[in-house]
Amino acid sequence: MQQIAAGTLYVVATPIGNLADLTPRAVDVLGQVDLVLAEDTRHTAQLLRHCGLSKPLQSLHEHNERQKLDSIVQRLQAGESLALVSDAGTPLLSDPGFPLVRRLRELDMPVIPIPGPCAAVAALSVAGLATDRFAFEGFLPARSGARRTRLEGLADETRTLVFYESGKRLAGVLNDMCEILGPDREAAVARELTKLYESIYRGSLAQLRDRAGSDVDMVRGELVLLVQGTPVAEIAENPELDRVLGVLLPELPLSQAVKLAVELCGLRRNEVYRRATELQKGTDLP
Ligand code: SAM
Repeated sequence: MQQIAAGTLYVVATPIGNLADLTPRAVDVLGQVDLVLAEDTRHTAQLLRHCGLSKPLQSLHEHNERQKLDSIVQRLQAGESLALVSDAGTPLLSDPGFPLVRRLRELDMPVIPIPGPCAAVAALSVAGLATDRFAFEGFLPARSGARRTRLEGLADETRTLVFYESGKRLAGVLNDMCEILGPDREAAVARELTKLYESIYRGSLAQLRDRAGSDVDMVRGELVLLVQGTPVAEIAENPELDRVLGVLLPELPLSQAVKLAVELCGLRRNEVYRRATELQKGTDLP
C-alpha cells in the first residue's frame, strides 16, 4: 500500500456499472484520504460501503462547485488530502471537477489522477472505428435546433466523433445525424457498458437510425454514440460543385442552395454544406 501525499487532490475514476472495475489503487486512495468530494454523496457512500470503507463525504456538483472552491483549497493548504469522484467513470469528463482542477493549476497545487473506467474510452476500444484521432463531444444539446447547428459545425470533422447520449434521445439524434452528416457514415452505439444488458450495435448511421426506431432495447439506458469522421478525400476540391454553388448561392438562401446542389451534383449534404459556407464567407468564390 502506497502512502498518499499530504495537501493533494486525487481525481479518482469509479465504475461505470460493474463494481469490479474499481481499481485496487482507487480503493487504497479512497481509504486514506481525509475527505471524499462526491457528485452525489449517497451514491458514493454506497460505493464506499461496498469496499468496506467509511469516510467523511462532501457534495461537489455543478451547482455548488464554484462556491466551495475556497474552502476546499484551504483544506488542501492545511495539509489534508482529498479525493474527487463522480457518480460514474472519470471525473471532469462530462462530470463535475473542472473548476476545482483549474483553480489548483492556477495555484500550482498538486493534483494526481487515479485512472480507471471512462465510458468514452471503453466504447472507442470496441467500436471498430478509427482511434488514432478522435474528438470527444460530450452531450449534444437536447433541443433539435441547437443540436442540428452543432452537428453542422462538425460535418467536416475528419476525426472519429464520440458523444454521450441518453437512450430516449437516440432515435432523434441519429435522424439528425443522417440528414446532416449523411446516412452512410459508419457508426456504433455502445449501450450499458459493463452492465447486465451491455450491447454494442455497429452499422451505418441509417441502419442504426432504423434499428433505434424499432428496437425498444436499443433505446434503454446509457450509451455512447460514435461516428466515423468524414473521409478526407470527400472534402477535397470539387470544381463541378464550386461551379454549381457559384450559380446558386447568389440567388438562394444557403439551405436551398445546398439542397439543390446536393441533387445536381449527387454529393453528400455535409460536403456540399461545408463548401457552401466557405464560399459564402466570400473567402473562395469561384
Ligand atoms: N464521467 C463519465 C465517464 O467517464 O464516462 C461520464 C459521465 S456522463 C454524466 C454520463 C454519460 O456517460 C451517460 O449519459 C452515457 O452517455 C455515458 N455512460 C456512462 N456510463 C455508461 C455505460 N455504462 N455505458 C454506456 N455509456 C455510459
